Amino acid sequence: MFIEINKVIKKIKEEDYKRILIQVPEGLKTEVVKIADKIEKQTKAQVIISVEPCYGACDLRLDEAKLLGCDLILHFGHIDFGVKTEIPVLYIPVYFDLEIPEKVKKEISEIKEKNLAIYSSEPFKKVLDDLGNYLLKIGKNVVSKKIILGCSEVKNSAEANIFVGSGKFHPFVLRGKTYFLDLEKNRLEDLTGEVKKEEMKKKARVLKFKEAKKVGILVSTKPGQFYKDYEIIKKKIEREGKEGRILVLDEITNEKLGRFGFDVYLNTACPRILDNHFDKPIVNLKDLF
Ligand code: SF4
Repeated sequence: MFIEINKVIKKIKEEDYKRILIQVPEGLKTEVVKIADKIEKQTKAQVIISVEPCYGACDLRLDEAKLLGCDLILHFGHIDFGVKTEIPVLYIPVYFDLEIPEKVKKEISEIKEKNLAIYSSEPFKKVLDDLGNYLLKIGKNVVSKKIILGCSEVKNSAEANIFVGSGKFHPFVLRGKTYFLDLEKNRLEDLTGEVKKEEMKKKARVLKFKEAKKVGILVSTKPGQFYKDYEIIKKKIEREGKEGRILVLDEITNEKLGRFGFDVYLNTACPRILDNHFDKPIVNLKDLF
């Protein structure tokens, strides 16, 4: 794992920040105290650590930063996707400098499709470049090469996709023939069947919504997930003969939604919350309209 901490320290000194809130994803929580110690030793700033889960650059803890009088948020492990903030936010990428093992390269060379679109998440950027170069070397065409988020909209542009990284969170935004180059298990997996199943689940959820009468519209307060046009959506639903009620919350969990008596929930926030279990049917806004 590689973090450019010296650049961060230089920036803090240059701008003379006094109090800093640090946010890290779960995988970095074992390192965060060491990072805070290093910053405090080498700058004049006081560092406060946010303990709340941090799922993406959509999940900035602005209220806590304001409450504690912080003049900077250091947000590790995610890339900036343009959330406007009063307090400056410094996004610090985390990279993995891994090699594609020879065994996996052999598996890649056995892929039948010639025109390939390749993807990764930000931390695996370097491996994505290596994959692109290797594919060209073995005579494949790389028609698209992109960094994606778990909520990206990706259009099919090739005969097949390859996602390189760890964990199946990201590859499920892809459609059609999809391979997963799993750097944790060091293998190439054909995910096409699982990707199709996800599509079918999505269609089933949309059907449930069509049949429902009472709809709870979920609006998240997370800065990068907040959906400002909730009123428009409510009116749209009501024009379809349904009852709509706006519900506001930070993190959306099954436990919070249990007792209201809605037939279905409409999620305007992170589309990937549906990867979790919910007792009540729940559908993503982007799958409906
Ligand atoms: S997938 Fe969800 S948590 Fe990740 S960046 Fe998108 S909205 Fe945020």
